[in-house]
This record gives sequence, structure tokens and C-alpha cells, in this order.
Amino acid sequence: MKIAVLSEAAPDERRVSATAETVKKFVQLGARVAVEAGAGRSASVADADYAAAGATLGSRAEVLADADVVLAVQGPAPESLTGIKPGAWLVAGLNPFGERARVDGYATLGIEALAMEWMPRITRAQSMDILSSQSNLAGYKAVIDAAAAYGRAFPMMMTAAGTVSAARVFVMGVGVAGLQAIATARRLGAQVSATDVRSATKEQIQSLGAKPIFVENVAGIEGEGSGGYATEMSPEYQKAQAELVSSHLAKQDVVITTALIPGRPAPRLISDAQLQTMRPGSIVVDLAVEQGGNVEGAVAGEVVERHGVRILGHRNVPSRLAADTSALFARNLYNFLSAYWDKEAGRPVLPDEDEVTQGIRLTRGGAVVHPRLLQA
Ligand code: NAD
Repeated sequence: MKIAVLSEAAPDERRVSATAETVKKFVQLGARVAVEAGAGRSASVADADYAAAGATLGSRAEVLADADVVLAVQGPAPESLTGIKPGAWLVAGLNPFGERARVDGYATLGIEALAMEWMPRITRAQSMDILSSQSNLAGYKAVIDAAAAYGRAFPMMMTAAGTVSAARVFVMGVGVAGLQAIATARRLGAQVSATDVRSATKEQIQSLGAKPIFVENVAGIEGEGSGGYATEMSPEYQKAQAELVSSHLAKQDVVITTALIPGRPAPRLISDAQLQTMRPGSIVVDLAVEQGGNVEGAVAGEVVERHGVRILGHRNVPSRLAADTSALFARNLYNFLSAYWDKEAGRPVLPDEDEVTQGIRLTRGGAVVHPRLLQA
């Protein structure tokens, strides 16, 4: 049983899918691990660390040869997998809708592509959930990026020369990333408020010491759909939300937006006209920029200035904290593979009838098999 760890090809991808810690654990399970030389460098894992943990190091062709399971952060181009064994598993974040042609390529190679971002959100799979682990740190980093760009302090400070007032931070979208953004902004001493379409988040916002900003008394207010995700809201709700947010936004110094709706473009939460009401020098971080953006004018990979307000649209925010996000990503993959480890077979085995298998398996036996892709 051989596990291959690939180095990432995507520009700006600094993460790696295995660390010395997880290599050691795979070796303890009885696997051989081969790491592409240099794969961990940008995530602060040296080749020597992998070797000390029991891995061999080699070229792409060497690590792929005979591999049963191939690990990556982002799905590699199928052309870069020449020599992979038919039936081998590819375990990574595969962006199945965005990279549909690659999924077809994996089918052609005869491999089993497992999309870790489609892990069902059930209790037993929480420790395997890459979306949660990566969003958590992205929420933290969004606040740190905002604080670095903001020309003022976050906490209130009383000095002999006078008082510096606390920054007002508003978090829009209180999922995993938003909750961590609230907690981080509070730790830095900001005055924090937050909003979401799911009313269940109100209590969570309060428990973190922030103020909930919620639309009340409007039809279609309960925005929670399956798996605890948001649904698209009624036009009445959207109008009421826009009005409430407008009056609140004009008083904010920093806004972090994180709102996503699965399978749809990110909802537009801030218009250009609303940006115009904000104080010059304010900072907006759009964490949804790569899914279409919550903020009008935000550009993926750029910092844009509109009406004196800077909109930060960093791509791949988890990669900006590559050492920690890699450690968590690698544990998510280990938790998944070890949970399905069959001691007799000496390898992981996925039962066909399992909810996890059905959630993540995109290709098998030369064909695309996932119902969400077959409908698309
Ligand atoms: P997400 O990344 O899909 O979306 C971020 C947030 O944006 C969500 O809270 C969503 O409600 C909100 N949003 C959507 N449209 C909005 C709008 N118009 N205005 C304001 N906010 C809007 O969410 P997520 O971080 O993946 O979390 C979604 C839910 O899943 C949460 O309840 C979370 O606790 C739950 N969850 C469960 C598990 C598990 O059980 N294994 C794991 C992770 C998350």
C-alpha cells in the first residue's frame, strides 16, 4: 500500500497535503509514503522532516509509480498524472463544478477521484472536513489582513495624549469563517457586530461578545436549508436586509464578508453606493471574492480602492497561512483515510452504501459517477 504526496502546481498555492506528523501516522498504519521532493517547502515542512518521519522522496513519476492513494491540496491536471495506476484514489479538494474537465480527465485515467470539499456535514465526518478547517483560519487571516491595511488601531487606547477609539468591525456571514473573524476582531479589541440570514447564528454572535444585526418581522426570514447551509432569501427579505445593512455600514471601519450559498454565486451584500457612505480609510475584506464576491467592485487577487475605501480580494486566503492550514488539511485527510482503514486489506476501503463515499466519490471504473455531476 503506497501513498503519494504531490507538490502543488497552482500559482499561489503554498499548502501541502501531508505533514511529517501525518506521514508518521500513515507509516504506523503500515503504508509506504512517497513525497514529491520540495512539496512541503512553502508550508515550512522540509524534505528532511518527511524523511525522518519515514517517507521516501522522489520525482513526480517516482512517487506516482504504483501509488494506491495520491494526496494533493488542489486537484492536479490529469496530464500531470501520467503513469498513475488505474483504480488509484486521488484525494484532494477537486472543485468539481469549477474543474469539470479535470474530473472527466480523472475518469479517463481510470482513477477514483474523491472530492474532499463534498464531505457530508455529519458529526462523524467533522474531523475530515477541509472546508471547515480552512475557512476557520481564513476568517482569522481576514481580520489580520484588515488590521494590517487599516491606518488606525483596533483597540481603544487611553494615552496621556488622548484616547484612540476602538475600530468598529462588522462581519457579514457567520459560518465557520465568520465566527472566527468575530472572535479574532474581539481579541484585537474591536467593537464587533455581525449578521447572517440564519437566525441560529444570533446566539453564537452574542456568545462571542458581538452585537447581532438582524432583520426582524419579514416573511421568509429563516434562511437555513439542508446541512445547516444558507438558502437564497425572498425579495422582501433582501430589501429589508439591504436597508438595515446600509444604515449600519455607514458607521463601520472594517467589514469582513464571508457569505456563500452552496451551488450558487455568492450573494451581493454591499453595493458601490453603500461603499460611498463609508468613512474614507475604511477596509472591506471580501472572503467570497473567488465565488463571485459579496462586494460590488471587489476583484479576485487585487486590492481595489473605491471612494477612499479599500476592498481586499486576496485569492486563496488559507494558503496565506500555509503552515497551519496544511497541518489541519493533512489531518483531515489522515482522519478520513484512517477511519476507513481495513486492517486485513492493509488499505482504506470505502463501502458503496456509505454516506461519505456517496458524497465525495466523483469517478470510478472509467466513468463520472457522482449524481450532482451527472445532473449538471
Ligand atoms: P458557508 O461558507 O456556506 O457560508 C458562510 C455564511 O454565509 C453562512 O453562515 C451563511 O448562512 C451566510 N450567508 C449566506 N447568504 C447570506 C446573506 N445574504 N447575508 C448574510 N449571510 C449570508 O457556511 P459554513 O461556514 O460552511 O457553515 C454553514 C453551516 O454549516 C454552519 O451552520 C456550520 O456550523 C455548519 N457546519 C456543520 C459541520 C458539520 O456538522 N460537520 C461542519 C461545518 C459547518
